[in-house]
Amino acid sequence: MNYELVLVRFGEIVIKGRNRNRFETMLLTQIRMALKSFDKLEFVRSYARVYIHLNGESYERVAERLKDIFGIMSFSPVIGSGLDLGEIRDNSLQLIRHLSVSPQTFKVSVNRGWKQYPHNSIEMNHLVGSHVLRNTPGLKVDVRRPEIELKVDIQKDMAYIYCEVVKGAGGFPLGMNGKAMLLLSGGIDSPVAGWMAMRKGLKIEAVHFHSYPFTSEQAKDKVVTLAQRLAYYGGKIKLHLVPFTEVQTKLAKSGHDSLIITLMRRSMLRIAERLAEQNDALAIVTGDSLGQVASQTLGSMNVIGRACSLPLLRPLVMMDKQDIIEHAAQIDTFETSILPFEDCCTLFVPKSPAINPNLNIVEKVEAMMGSELERLIDEAVQGTEVVILKNGADTEASAQAQERKEDAWF
Ligand code: ATP
Ligand code: MG
Repeated sequence: MNYELVLVRFGEIVIKGRNRNRFETMLLTQIRMALKSFDKLEFVRSYARVYIHLNGESYERVAERLKDIFGIMSFSPVIGSGLDLGEIRDNSLQLIRHLSVSPQTFKVSVNRGWKQYPHNSIEMNHLVGSHVLRNTPGLKVDVRRPEIELKVDIQKDMAYIYCEVVKGAGGFPLGMNGKAMLLLSGGIDSPVAGWMAMRKGLKIEAVHFHSYPFTSEQAKDKVVTLAQRLAYYGGKIKLHLVPFTEVQTKLAKSGHDSLIITLMRRSMLRIAERLAEQNDALAIVTGDSLGQVASQTLGSMNVIGRACSLPLLRPLVMMDKQDIIEHAAQIDTFETSILPFEDCCTLFVPKSPAINPNLNIVEKVEAMMGSELERLIDEAVQGTEVVILKNGADTEASAQAQERKEDAWF
């Protein structure tokens, strides 16, 4: 089927007033950015929706990209029709005929946005419906629970006909709700947490702690790959690579074996908080999920969380591991996450990590290390390297657009 338009519906309908306008303006900018390699597209905005005129671009390829843009509630491929009754009837029939699965039941819902149209919407429902029925053997009308709802929206210039509604990613346009630092390990959970934070409108910068040379170059590459994947959704990701070896070695010598993970996590948060301040981020996002490991019991989270004063956001806290894994597969980070390279935390894993660490003791142990620990934390912050990851898909899409231009040339 050759669709002429895509109708994109914006999400979070509860947003009102000025925020609504900001939401729509930001989302439209992001849609344009994400689709910038399709040069023929035209965008027409109307309240809480935008019409994309395809002008010959492939609907399937545009749809593939639209599915991953945060803030879009749903979208539909649309046939643009002239206002002549015969034309509307024929286009409606074509649409039903070309559906990938032939429906058993349907109903027609005509909306007459342009009130001067000679037939009212009830008449139109009959006029269009009867034509489709007459020409589609086996099809029946079911007004209560139709398999397909054929929508015809009559406006002054043209009629918009569609029936498919594709669910969008939902949430808020990226960055609408500010910026946060994502603690990105090489594991399954933190990339999913990052995706969820972005979906809620947070711009993300990633922070990864490595213990090179104890952890390998490949472990670092794996995190770069994950951040790159997040950049597909987030446009551009700044990845901070923090040298954690010295801090970790110092903590390991404290003699409190069972507290080492607690101590490490607290130092990570202190470093992340400093990086957040430097980069104007107002929260820290982690992939913690309640009860998953010793450092994620309520007792541990409490003692660890007190090391920093920025809000700690844990999008996965109530989720089951299986659901997190499915999510990781959907956003295409799972395969990378399960590569075997070790994380800095696995280097010093004690036999029995504390599941209920005592805040007083933890604070005393840190106080004993005093300014030495502070100095190592300073050095880690100063030694942090930054890698900027751009949206690889855009590069790929613009390469394809270039190819198409070259094809057209020949
Ligand atoms: P993940 O699958 O994300 O690694 P996990 O189940 O292995 O999670 P932990 O290793 O306990 O859990 O880590 C909990 C959270 O702490 C991670 O989700 C991540 O946000 C953060 N974290 C752990 N290790 C690192 C690291 N090396 N660099 C940055 N953040 C880390
Ligand atoms: Mg981990």
